[in-house]
Amino acid sequence: MQTNFTPQQLQDPGVAESEKILRKCVHCGFCTATCPTYVTLGNELDSPRGRIYLIKDMLENGRPADEQIVKHVDRCLSCLACMTTCPSGVNYMHLVDHARAHIEKTYKRPVMNRFIRGLLAFVLPYPSRFRLSLTAAKLGRPFAPLLKSVQALKPLATMLELAPKTVPAKSRFAEPGLHKPATEKRGRVAILTGCAQPVLKPGINEATIRLLTRLGIEVVVPKGEGCCGALVHHMGREEAALEDARRNVDVWTRELHDGGLDAIIVTASGCGTTIKDYGYMLRLDPAYSDKAAVISGLAKDITEYLTTLDLPAPQHPANLVVAYHSACSMQHGQKLTRQPKDLLKAAGFTVREPAEGHLCCGSAGTYNIMQAEIARTLRDRKVKNIEATGASIIATGNIGCITQIASAAKMPIVHTVELLDWVYGGPRPEGVPAPVLQAAE
Ligand code: SF4
Ligand code: SF4
Repeated sequence: MQTNFTPQQLQDPGVAESEKILRKCVHCGFCTATCPTYVTLGNELDSPRGRIYLIKDMLENGRPADEQIVKHVDRCLSCLACMTTCPSGVNYMHLVDHARAHIEKTYKRPVMNRFIRGLLAFVLPYPSRFRLSLTAAKLGRPFAPLLKSVQALKPLATMLELAPKTVPAKSRFAEPGLHKPATEKRGRVAILTGCAQPVLKPGINEATIRLLTRLGIEVVVPKGEGCCGALVHHMGREEAALEDARRNVDVWTRELHDGGLDAIIVTASGCGTTIKDYGYMLRLDPAYSDKAAVISGLAKDITEYLTTLDLPAPQHPANLVVAYHSACSMQHGQKLTRQPKDLLKAAGFTVREPAEGHLCCGSAGTYNIMQAEIARTLRDRKVKNIEATGASIIATGNIGCITQIASAAKMPIVHTVELLDWVYGGPRPEGVPAPVLQAAE
């Protein structure tokens, strides 16, 4: 695609990078067929190609964002299906990240929208605030129908509806500390505790630590790490995301020098995609660019890391049929398509893949709150496809998808690592009813 930026505009490194990306696009439109918002809404401006044109126009003309571009960029899930489909290697992720930062700097959103986005950024990345807000949500739930009747307050109603009815107790595995291997030491890793996941489903990291230590891996939960920054990054809050990234880079670099690390284990693929991008995000910061690139290289999804280990024979048969839902951040963001399924099959599960596996479930960070109607349409489509597999349980690798799909699916949904931990000697995963497992045993 031909571009028209002035030499002065190209002095801005963000614009220069976007210009390189734009030039790669050949307007072929292949990406439209796999874009969930285009498939749902049928509007070219809600397709990757349409958004690319809008972003190009805004950046080339050095214009502040307007209502139209905000509407269509906000509707993008950042699912990155378009990157998997694109034959020209267009890095839509970096382009839309730049566009979102530009929107955040140049567009004044309506007051309620600003308030809700601010509230989400204030609460979600902090486990203690998030836990408190879930408790408060229980009291607020009866007001959800009332809030729903006012257009601007609908996201608040959705938040109340999505909040789980019970909040699990705080896990000791989320506390900083060292978990020694149960057998001869084969390796040493750090684990990201994250922000929302340890509050909503502490069992995921518990299963991960149990499984790894049984396999002879020392696991450290480093002091000082926090949210990976994905949440604010997707809101265009660039500086806040970079602060999160720098803090985590410092913590893991210290751990790397002190005890050595073979990997940084991530159990939420959304976070994994962002951490693997730290090298790019901090490329312009001379104090962090090298360190961040090292950290990005060390980041591994738990399934990616497990495939590098020799796993023992399963401790008991797992003849369950599992529908594997590949999170967008897993398949499109990290290109991990084979590993989770191979591990489940090797553990004895029968794995079925739902139709339209490339389409997002509508979770996408805070998307299911801010764009609730599109998110619900995508969720219902996803659940229908999953249920058509005839599986008795769903496995996936991202907490956002777990929460989103669980809100409509009739069968239990667990993290892939919870099933693996169970088969290799751990307890039955929370949420899997005993009769299902007993029937298979
Ligand atoms: S990231 Fe997903 S929703 Fe956004 S343009 Fe690409 S395919 Fe469409
Ligand atoms: S598939 Fe790639 S090259 Fe074709 S329009 Fe989409 S982004 Fe551009």
